[in-house]
Amino acid sequence: MLASQLYCPTLRDDPAEADVVSHKLMLKAGMIRKSAAGLYSFLPLGRRVVLKIEAIVRREMDGAGAQEVMMPIVQPAEIWKETGRWDVYGPEMFKLSDRHDNEYCLGPTHEELITTLVRSELRSYKQLPVNLYQMQNKYRDEIRPRFGLMRSREFVMKDAYTFDIDKAGMIKSYENMYNAYCRVFDACGLDYRPVLADSGQIGGNYSHEFMALAEAGEADIVTCNECGFAANVEKAVPKALIGKKEELREAECFATPACATIQDLVEVTGTPVEKTIKAVAFDIDGKLVLVMVRGDHEVNDVAVQNLVGGNEVTPATPEQLRAHGLEPGYMSPLNAGKQGDDFVILADETVMHIYNGVTGANKHGYHYRNVTPSRDFTNVTVGTVRLITEHDECPECGGHVQLTQGIEVGQVFGLGTKYSEALHAGFLDKDGQSRPFYMGCYGIGVTRTMAAAIEQLHDDNGIIWPVAIAPYEAVVLPVNVKDAEMAAVAEGIYKELQAAGVDAIFDDREERAGVKFNDADLIGYPVRVTVGNTVKDTGEVEIKLRRSGAEEQVTVAEAAKRVCEILTELRNKNM
Ligand code: ATP
Ligand code: MG
Repeated sequence: MLASQLYCPTLRDDPAEADVVSHKLMLKAGMIRKSAAGLYSFLPLGRRVVLKIEAIVRREMDGAGAQEVMMPIVQPAEIWKETGRWDVYGPEMFKLSDRHDNEYCLGPTHEELITTLVRSELRSYKQLPVNLYQMQNKYRDEIRPRFGLMRSREFVMKDAYTFDIDKAGMIKSYENMYNAYCRVFDACGLDYRPVLADSGQIGGNYSHEFMALAEAGEADIVTCNECGFAANVEKAVPKALIGKKEELREAECFATPACATIQDLVEVTGTPVEKTIKAVAFDIDGKLVLVMVRGDHEVNDVAVQNLVGGNEVTPATPEQLRAHGLEPGYMSPLNAGKQGDDFVILADETVMHIYNGVTGANKHGYHYRNVTPSRDFTNVTVGTVRLITEHDECPECGGHVQLTQGIEVGQVFGLGTKYSEALHAGFLDKDGQSRPFYMGCYGIGVTRTMAAAIEQLHDDNGIIWPVAIAPYEAVVLPVNVKDAEMAAVAEGIYKELQAAGVDAIFDDREERAGVKFNDADLIGYPVRVTVGNTVKDTGEVEIKLRRSGAEEQVTVAEAAKRVCEILTELRNKNM
C-alpha cells in the first residue's frame, strides 16, 4: 500500500470526545470515526485490524471444530417471547416493527435464534455434538455507550453455540472452547486472565470471562497469586469475618443528628467502622429488598439477585421505603415493617458476627448502639451478599488477594437446558426418548478486543500493535522521496517485502521526515525501515522496532530478509 493513497485522516490534536486512550488513539490515527453515540465507522486501517482479529478467531474456531454460519441480525419477537427474554432484556434491546406491524429486534445475541434454527433439524443423538459460530454485528442500546469501541451500541461479536446430549458432553464442549479462547487471546498478544464468572441459575463453575488486564477496564477482578484463583468480584464468595466476642450490652436508641452516612457516623460517634452496619435497599421486580452489610463493605447485587431471584434491579424509592417502615439514611431491620412477598431483609454473614454494633433506628436522626445482630436481627435471611475486598482472604486457599481492573473481551458459558427447554428443542436419545439439548454459548468481542490491545500497548507517541493484528506489519520510509536514489532503494525494499508476503506500506508522501516518523509511531507499525542519506555512503538502512525501540543498521540487500526474520520472531512470541 502506498501511504500517499491511504485513506487515513490523522488528527494533530487530541480529540476532546475521547475518554480513554484506545478511543483517543484510534480517532487520532484515522482508524475510526463516530457517527452517533456508540456507533462508529471503521476506516481502512481500523478495518484491517478488525479483519485480522476475525481471521485469528476463525482459525481457532475452525480448528476447534466449530462451523461458521450466518444468522439474520433482524430477529422476530416471537422467539424472544417464547423464552421470556423480550421483556427481560428491557431497554437495551433495539426493537423495530415492519410495515405489517410485526415486531422484531436487532440481535443483541442469538441463543433464541440458533435454538429455533436447529430444533427442527437436529433430531438424533447421532448428530451431536454440534458447534456453530458466526461473526456479526451485534446491537445493544447500552445505557451509557462510552470508551469508544469498548462499550458501543453496534459492535462485532463472534458468537458460538454448542449442542450436546448431556452435561458431561456440555462440559467437554465448554473446555474445548475455553482452550480455543486462550489461543485466540494469546495470538492477539493480550495480557489476559480467564476468571470465574457468575453462571446464574445453572450454578457450578460453568462460566469464565476473559479479562484483558487494563486500568480502563470496567470489570473488577480478584486474583490470588498463591493459588491462582481468579474471579469476577461478583462471583467471589468472601469468608465471613468474625468480630471479637464481647460481653453483650443492652441495645439502646440514641440521637445521631446529621449522621446519614457511615462516614458521618464513625466521625461523630467514634464507633469503629467494623462495628457499623449499613443498609442498602433495592427494588427487584417490584419487591423491596433491604440488604445489611458492614459499614466498610459493599453490597454484591449479583449475589443478592441470585438469592432473591428476579430480573430488574433498581434502587428503591423513598416512598417505597417509608411504606415498609424504613427511614432513608437510618434503615435497619429494627422497627422495620413486616416482611412478605413484597419485602425481604437480607444480612451479610459478617454482619451476624458483630457484637455491640451501631445501626439505624428507622427514625430520622437516630441510631441504635449495642446492637448484636445474632441476637437482635431475628427477622433476616443470612447469606454472603457483600463484595470481596483486598483485606479478605482468598476464598480458595486463605492467601492474599489483589483486586485489578479488566476489560471483558470474551465469555464462555455452560447454559444447560435453559433455552432448549424453553424453546422445546431436543433430540431422541439411544432409547428413543426425547431429551433437551445441553447447550453452551461463547462470545468474543472482536471490536472490544481491538480497543483492549491498544489500552495495553501504547506509549506517548501512539499505538504499539502486536504483529498479528497490526494493520500493516512494516513501513518503509524514505526520508526524502524527492531524492531519486533514496526513493528507489525504499521502493525496492517495499517490493521485496510484498513479494515475501509481508503486509507492507511504502511512505511515498512528500512530507517532512518528522511528520512521517510521527505518523508511523501513532499508527503503530511494528517495524519501520528508514532509508536516509547514509544509504549513499554506507549502503545501509535502519530497522527500528516500535515496541522495544531497538535499532539496527543493515545493508539494502539484507533489509527485507531481516524484516521477515524479525516479524517471525515477534509473531512467535505473540508480540
Ligand atoms: P458487559 O458486561 O461488558 O456489558 P456482557 O457480559 O453483557 O458485557 P456478553 O453478552 O458476554 O457481554 O457478550 C460477549 C462479548 O461481547 C463480551 O465479552 C464483550 O467482549 C463483547 N461486548 C458486549 N457488549 C459490548 C459492547 N457494548 N461493546 C463492545 N463489545 C461488547
Ligand atoms: Mg459477558
